Amino acid sequence: AERAAEIDYVFKIVVVGDSAVGKTQLLGRFTKDEFCFDSKSTIGVEFQTRTITLNHKRIKAQIWDTAGQERYRAVTSAYYRGALGAMLVYDITNRQTFDHVARWVEELRAHADNSIVVMLIGNKADLAGRRAVSTEDAVEFAEEQGLFFSEASALSGENVESAFLSILEEIYGVV
Ligand code: GDP
Ligand code: MG
Repeated sequence: AERAAEIDYVFKIVVVGDSAVGKTQLLGRFTKDEFCFDSKSTIGVEFQTRTITLNHKRIKAQIWDTAGQERYRAVTSAYYRGALGAMLVYDITNRQTFDHVARWVEELRAHADNSIVVMLIGNKADLAGRRAVSTEDAVEFAEEQGLFFSEASALSGENVESAFLSILEEIYGVV
């Protein structure tokens, strides 16, 4: 078999956070390097994948999308099963989505494995002029909760690759 076709690890990563924060677009940016301007909140595919190489190992990132189940407590425990990483996304222009981050942390603690690696993402960093959440507030929350943190933009692509790669490297370090 072709070496390129072999996969050494599959890492399941779940994306969580309120509706319309940009979860699906972050996934599209990382897996296909695209941003879809006319995307509806469609019931999409369950997950998307991208294979990367880390330390000469082929790692398939299998990234799960909530696809419209973001209402409080609507995401089932099956969604979290086997997840090694989580991207917890809020929108820097929408304070409420940041205020709800604590609930999503509770959900992760309740349903996901204790060792799950969680990265908090402040998305829509391209809209900094309409910012409603300071970087300092987010850094403080992330430190309190032991989460990694980055601001990013699915639209411009800023920090998307680095955020996903950091989480994959962190998972790789603990498997
Ligand atoms: P989801 O419900 O969390 O999956 O959010 P979507 O990915 O469907 O995005 C919700 C809306 O935010 C859409 O209108 C997107 O075009 C927009 N959006 C997503 N990411 C960004 C971003 O980084 N910057 C800006 N300006 N808009 C974004
Ligand atoms: Mg979506």
